[in-house]
Amino acid sequence: MAKRAAQAMEQTVEATTQEIGRSLWQNLERRRPTIFEQRWWLDHVLEWAMADESVKVQMFRFVDVLPMLRTHEAVTAHLHEYFDDIRQHLPSAARLVVDHSDFNALTSKTVAYGARTNARRMAERFIAGSKVDEVLQSVAKLRRKGLAFTLDLLGEAVVSEPEADAYQQQYLDLITGLAPFVSRWSESPQLDRDDQTWIPRCNVSLKLSALYSQFRPIDPAGSAEGVKARLRPILRAAREHDAYVHVDMEHHAYKDLTLDIFKQVFMEDEFRDWTDCGIVVQAYLPEAGRDLQDLLEWVRARGTSIGIRLVKGAYWDYETVVSGYRGWPCPVYTDKWRSDDNFERQTQFLMEHYRELRPAIASHNLRSLAHAIAWGQTLDVPQNAWEIQMLYGMAEDQAQLFAERGHRVRIYTPFGELIPGMAYLVRRLLENTSNDSFLRHAYDTSVSIEDLLRRPADVGDRQAAAG
Ligand SMILES: Cc1cc2nc3c(=O)[nH]c(=O)nc-3n(C[C@H](O)[C@H](O)[C@H](O)COP(=O)(O)OP(=O)(O)OC[C@H]3O[C@@H](n4cnc5c(N)ncnc54)[C@H](O)[C@@H]3O)c2cc1C
Repeated sequence: MAKRAAQAMEQTVEATTQEIGRSLWQNLERRRPTIFEQRWWLDHVLEWAMADESVKVQMFRFVDVLPMLRTHEAVTAHLHEYFDDIRQHLPSAARLVVDHSDFNALTSKTVAYGARTNARRMAERFIAGSKVDEVLQSVAKLRRKGLAFTLDLLGEAVVSEPEADAYQQQYLDLITGLAPFVSRWSESPQLDRDDQTWIPRCNVSLKLSALYSQFRPIDPAGSAEGVKARLRPILRAAREHDAYVHVDMEHHAYKDLTLDIFKQVFMEDEFRDWTDCGIVVQAYLPEAGRDLQDLLEWVRARGTSIGIRLVKGAYWDYETVVSGYRGWPCPVYTDKWRSDDNFERQTQFLMEHYRELRPAIASHNLRSLAHAIAWGQTLDVPQNAWEIQMLYGMAEDQAQLFAERGHRVRIYTPFGELIPGMAYLVRRLLENTSNDSFLRHAYDTSVSIEDLLRRPADVGDRQAAAG
């Protein structure tokens, strides 16, 4: 009986998902696809990258190293190193640039200038600025568009204690600097309230591994002490200035340690009753469901809810490559539909437990988001009890549409210098140009709306049938 009721509910959710997805799609079709608009395509960089895998790999290696190259000679030397072997795969204009880049000092300088300008433009698409005043302008602009924000300071792989101190200090400055700025904004119930109460306008996301240079899963106790010592002052500042703190999830090797430290610190007397905190769960990991169940039990023991940002996971290329060359089992799903399917199952779980695990559904995939809305409606979850999250510079037209439909949409807004920003930029470029990316399919006119909205398990069945 219970099984039949569950099946009936799933059918209702699927029908609602299709209905919502189609209605969203009709609205989006009338809008300009910003990710593929003129300014983005100016340099045709992504077009080339998508056309040829070898160009893509070398292009992104080059983008990654570019900020470190101080002289025009170094830039042209790297151009040759990366592109000479694949020059026949390059479009003719790009081949011309590579061939003549070191013809004389003038061409070399021109090419280096062009490469830097183009890389900066690409970075500006995804990174909100490097200085605090640029960041303030960016978040104010988001607010005017009816969008909330969470700020993320770029800078991965902290290798020394002074770097960890600097990371901590920047968050302290950010929280204290931002609080008076956002408190002057006029009220927006859509952005400033959930189903229970007013929620902080100032919202930051941080990575625990950047708070301690010796963050090592083989030394969980030492790592936890190192991280917590720098995390507590940030949490105190956040409480004092009414800010929300979200813990990002990094690669799989750090996941359990990150979850442990999160649970330890938020169970301390000082922070146990604090609701303005949360953590990320990645659906490309088969164990996401178990982790969410653990978090639910932990929240019940704690007695205070937390936020959960559900994502698919940003380190798919890294996890598959690293586990492959080490000969270890791959920690992530290797079929895209399985990640999508798990994302949907965990969305349902979050909606069922929204009072304890307040859901933030983070995706640019229309099917994944329509499905979340469908579960929310079917389970009578108040619309403001959960939020949609998207990345700065991605799917802006979708973000706007969801905001117009009354959802609280929060934009994950990275800021910081270009060099630490490169790893982030390359992850976004990989994601946008991946064969499996929803956004890539969404702007491919040969992919139908039926395919875009297809249930992940049905995608799996079709792939199995096709062999
Ligand atoms: C607000 C926000 C915050 C985020 N914070 C984090 C974070 O803290 N940690 C983090 O890891 N990520 C984070 N991400 C990134 C996120 O994990 C995804 O990389 C990104 O959102 C793309 O997923 P999608 O649902 O938008 O797009 P889709 O195109 O539907 O999905 C792409 C994703 O599917 C998965 N995938 C791709 N190919 C395959 C394959 N062959 N087999 C199995 N799975 C595959 C990958 O996870 C890939 O990123 C965040 C995203 C957002 C929007």
